[in-house]
Amino acid sequence: MTQGREPLTIMDGNLQTDFSTKTKRGVYLSKSLTFVILVIFALALVATAFIVYNFAACPRTDHLANVTKYEHICDQSKLLVIPLSTENSKSVTLVESTTNTVEITTSENENAVKDVRLPNNIKPDRYILRLTPYIFEGNFTFDGEVSIVITVKNKTNTVTFHGVELSFHKIELYKKVDGKAVKIVRRTEDVPRQFHILTTAEDLIAGQQYVLNITFTGILNDNLHGFYRSLYEEKKDKRWIAVTQFQATDARRAFPCWDEPALKAKFTISIARPNNLTSISNMNIVGREAHEILSDYTWDHYAESLPMSTYLVAFVVTDFANMTDSKNNFSVWARKEALPSAAYALDIGPKILKFLEEYYKIKFPLPKIDMIALPDFKAGAMENWGLLTFREIAMLYDVGVSPTTAKARVASVVAHEIAHQWFGNLVTPAWWSDIWLNEGFASYVEYVAVDAVEKSWKLMEVFVLNEVQSVFKLDALTSSHQISVEVGNPEEIGAIFDKISYGKGSAILRMMNHFLTDDVFNAGITDYLNAKKFGDAEQRDLWSALTNAARERKAFDADVGVVMDSWTLQTGFPVLTITRDYKTGVITFKQERFVLINDTLDGNNSSVWWIPVSYTTAAEKDFLSTRPKLWLRGERSIVVENITIGENDWFIGNIQQTGFYRINYDQRNWNMLIKILNNKSRFQEIHPINRAQIIDDSMNLALSGRLDYRTALDITSYLSHEKSYVPWKAGLVALGYIDTMLSKGAYYLEYKRYVLRLLNSTVQELGWEIMTNESVVRAQHRVDLLSTACHLQHVECLEQAVRMYTNWMLKHNPDNDNDIHADLRSTVYCVGVQAGNAREWNFAWERFLAVSVPSERELLLSVLGCTRAPYLLYRYLDLSLRNDSGIRKQDTVRVFSAVASSSIGEPIAFNFVRANWQRLKDYVGSVSTLNSILKVVTRRLNQAHEYEELKRFVSESCSDLGRPVLQVLERTAANVQWMEQNYQTIVKWLLAVDKSAHRVTDA
Ligand SMILES: [Zn+2]
Repeated sequence: MTQGREPLTIMDGNLQTDFSTKTKRGVYLSKSLTFVILVIFALALVATAFIVYNFAACPRTDHLANVTKYEHICDQSKLLVIPLSTENSKSVTLVESTTNTVEITTSENENAVKDVRLPNNIKPDRYILRLTPYIFEGNFTFDGEVSIVITVKNKTNTVTFHGVELSFHKIELYKKVDGKAVKIVRRTEDVPRQFHILTTAEDLIAGQQYVLNITFTGILNDNLHGFYRSLYEEKKDKRWIAVTQFQATDARRAFPCWDEPALKAKFTISIARPNNLTSISNMNIVGREAHEILSDYTWDHYAESLPMSTYLVAFVVTDFANMTDSKNNFSVWARKEALPSAAYALDIGPKILKFLEEYYKIKFPLPKIDMIALPDFKAGAMENWGLLTFREIAMLYDVGVSPTTAKARVASVVAHEIAHQWFGNLVTPAWWSDIWLNEGFASYVEYVAVDAVEKSWKLMEVFVLNEVQSVFKLDALTSSHQISVEVGNPEEIGAIFDKISYGKGSAILRMMNHFLTDDVFNAGITDYLNAKKFGDAEQRDLWSALTNAARERKAFDADVGVVMDSWTLQTGFPVLTITRDYKTGVITFKQERFVLINDTLDGNNSSVWWIPVSYTTAAEKDFLSTRPKLWLRGERSIVVENITIGENDWFIGNIQQTGFYRINYDQRNWNMLIKILNNKSRFQEIHPINRAQIIDDSMNLALSGRLDYRTALDITSYLSHEKSYVPWKAGLVALGYIDTMLSKGAYYLEYKRYVLRLLNSTVQELGWEIMTNESVVRAQHRVDLLSTACHLQHVECLEQAVRMYTNWMLKHNPDNDNDIHADLRSTVYCVGVQAGNAREWNFAWERFLAVSVPSERELLLSVLGCTRAPYLLYRYLDLSLRNDSGIRKQDTVRVFSAVASSSIGEPIAFNFVRANWQRLKDYVGSVSTLNSILKVVTRRLNQAHEYEELKRFVSESCSDLGRPVLQVLERTAANVQWMEQNYQTIVKWLLAVDKSAHRVTDA
């Protein structure tokens, strides 16, 4: 899966975790659950099994009503809307015939739901699944029929499988060999574990196959998980579609199944769809026939799949159109109106597929690939085998309307999902604990693949910004987590689809690629995939394949597993301190864990890593050899005597930042680096990635109290002559933190003047004129610098942007007539809205309602938060929580992020969240979304009293949000501490440079 890429590195790509699955945490839930238990208990005393059965199914749908606009009351008459032609009354009788009683167990012990694994006495071999979705207002349900061939591994009299929010009508079990029925004496539902447990009258025999037949009804929910419905408009006409998102634990919402990744089986799927719609699934269609009951429906029958995990099953029913590259059996699908924007995805998709077939040295095993852009999608994209689903913005690119950077995003996400087709789909991590391997690998290979297909973009250079430096921030918190982490329940599983699994995962794989070399790395990957194909694996399987590949080639003497365990099983990452003895030439390398608040570990932390150390010197200037010249083999420090270096030569470690660690030097070496960087004619002797590394490391070492801020700030001053994108971006991010912290203080003006002096010449050079075919990197560079310049009130920048926005407002038909270049729009729109008032804001809002191009919609959503009028910001937040406003639920976080991104908007957003917490919970219905919102609205808090308020709010309202909320608290505590320790130093430094700059200007 690819995460949604919200601004400010929000982790919103996590799986939607519905409150209805939380049995103990949400307040209204425990109430409803208590209600359920009481009702069932009371009824059980007086009612027949028939009555109990019917009520047992109902409370689950009632939970759903809490988080959707779809009302479904626990009332038999309402259940009749389910058009099970049907078999409604008959099925109940049948249930009675096979099931004597139904028990509902709801575990009262919260700890107990940690243990959510299925018993391992049964494994599924084949599913034959038939689904009929009803995609009509007033009836969003589906009928299902599944026949599951299972093999009994150990003798048992219970059959346990998953199912959520499904009503069962008929359950039968029989022996495969002779078709003899096995009597089911009891059906139990374990709600917290999402289990259904059948107890049989006779033991099931080990080694025998049985067939489990179930007919059922489910709900096409609007929570963007399971089998869900989605609405879009085409030419003012409302269109409903039905699509799926199963990773990690939501296949069980669409059909009863053994919903764990290692329990692979073959799927034969049939979808009945209205005659005027089409369906797509993982495999190719092998037959069509008229529906036996519904005259306006057709059955689409799909070929049997290869063995695959349930979370990779997918099907969609839409009225979309498609384009096909028939040579490669590769198709793209989108809303008819948006289909032309899928041309780039169709162009690059087959190229990436071909590259990856060569990269893995394994042919893509399925007969076709479909990619579809969906109007409502929680994550960025999903790698379902053979049917890749995308958020529209991650697949559609509109030449001339979407910014150049949107093209790079489409390429990356497409590459990420195709990379999973082998790594994740062909071979699947046995359990979610190893999801980092899946996501880390796809996140790394997306760069490798795009770099191979779009060479001019130099995407590998950007890797250190997006995946290494941005992850350091999160991983420096003591509340971070190890990347290979034990997880059980769906919320825990959802929470690890985070920056650690994706970013750190990819960064340590890149580190491994560099210390093993391409030759060994690629051979090990191919061996691993071949050995485990159609099955599941653990990370140690990959380590041993890589160790063998390395030993065969005599490339690496250690056990890859030992090296990598130090990175995957420990939380955090090290800072390597390099201290030179300038007289003897001896160099000491010492490691310790890098944490944001330097005193939180008490110096007792025993973590040590296997650290590959590459380096170069002023004499050598070799920035291409990234192979380690020495190792810290889990040692706290080493002393090296044989490095040849002149005492006045600088030393730089971690070439191209291929190692996932920070570096600190002794003060004299730092001074030499400041000197060379500030030398206008010589700073380029250092590789641009290492220039970015030096800025990022020094500023963060200072931030955490390990380096004098004056040293770090002296380094940033070289940016006044830096022209390259990567170091500039690192500088903007590092300075951005100071910006945020100082923006509520008395000396922000000095900060602004300082950064504007740094920006000036580069802003002029990039300018407002855009050449045709500019590189993605240059386009991104311009966006970053212009928006920073305008943010800091750069006079020409503001004038230019306001002029362009006003001209646009004067257009007769602004929706069709917009001559602002796509790469300038983010800056121009934001300044236009910010400098204006309600009229300018409404203009942007109307454009948002009118436009259907996804990148433009996303951009307009962001700039609506740029206004400085508090009443508009409140209005905007309010709109984001209304179904009828035009803002999709998938975009709620973006709205909060946009509002909270300024010092005016942040307190408004934080207050709004606190005042509307219950409404927010009810509306978004997702723990991960709440966490993302809380994260963005608290980013700028840095006063002791603000920290106290946050703490109180968390303990009163949301202590149940898990690890992410602890991270928010820790980050805020670090901000407060930072203000106490560094504010004065920075102000003094800024005043001094301001003074000397004025002296220069005066002279
Ligand atoms: Zn992924």
